[in-house]
Amino acid sequence: MQKEQVIIIGSGPAGLTAALYAARANLKPLVISGNQLGGQISITNEVENYPGFPEGASGPELVELMQKQAERFGARVLIDEVTEVDFSEGSPFHIKTHGDEFKADAVIVAVGASPNRLGIPGEEEFIGRGVSFCATCDGFFFRDKDVLVIGGGDSAIEEALFLTRFVTRVRVIHRRDELRAGEALKRRAFENEKIEFVWDSVLEEIRGDGKVESAFVRNVKTDDIVTLDTDGVFIFIGHLPNSSFFKGQLELDKKGYLITDERMMTSVPGVFAAGEIQDSIFRQITTSVGQGAAAGMMTERWLEEQE
Ligand code: NAP
Repeated sequence: MQKEQVIIIGSGPAGLTAALYAARANLKPLVISGNQLGGQISITNEVENYPGFPEGASGPELVELMQKQAERFGARVLIDEVTEVDFSEGSPFHIKTHGDEFKADAVIVAVGASPNRLGIPGEEEFIGRGVSFCATCDGFFFRDKDVLVIGGGDSAIEEALFLTRFVTRVRVIHRRDELRAGEALKRRAFENEKIEFVWDSVLEEIRGDGKVESAFVRNVKTDDIVTLDTDGVFIFIGHLPNSSFFKGQLELDKKGYLITDERMMTSVPGVFAAGEIQDSIFRQITTSVGQGAAAGMMTERWLEEQE
């Protein structure tokens, strides 16, 4: 069994920033990447609100730079997934991955969140055959096609704009008559000729023969149902924290987010958390980076106090 001072579970902006701070404190942190190195931003095409990049940056580019910077000071990134944690006996904590087993004096949990599902007929069945949760990953396959985007938040509008590079038309289906997305994105979407809006409407079912061909859409005000012919359905209706793994080990709030104190410490001393796994409010790359920095600093302080 390998013994580490600090293990960071998750490699998004929070995890990689925690790694940078822990590495600069000479703790040689080990980052266990999870199934997607970089987390959600690694599948984000363009990030326009990360300071220091006035022209914007691509998500994968930011991940690469953050990883390089942490590694420069001695952080190591292991491409593997955690399969089991045991925090029950306090520090040192036990962590298993597919390939290894570790003990760690302190742990930082930065496992982020995953896209919500609509839970309607056809959604699961057509994943990879027209249903997608990532325009950056799949947009290219919809060249000259017609697609629906579900949701009215920043993600839905940003991804709808990205899809216009490929498709002939994007219809954004939103359950209200007003977008939740920020002003800048809204303006760009309203000005884009390829984007149309279907207001006050929800998706009831996705249909097709082997691939997506149509969707039933219900107007929530009139209850009228229309069938829209389409080639793809991109769903961006928020996220759920990836915390099920920690149920029974760490305290969660009602929505499933890890509860942390002002030092980023969870209910178990020595286990810290940062980023979207413990933040239901801000959920920005910038705020995750700040929380990662705080968790890295507090981990160092906590380890020092234990000596
Ligand atoms: P979000 O802000 O929670 O928006 C989710 C959207 O989906 C809302 O419009 C919501 O409708 C709709 N929705 C939720 N459940 C639904 C359901 N069952 N059926 C139909 N529609 C449903 O999530 P997000 O857009 O993924 O953004 C998450 C966070 O990341 C936010 O804090 C956002 O600001 C941030 N973000 C920022 C940027 C950026 O700044 N460039 C880009 C992406 C994400 P209602 O509006 O009616 O609630």
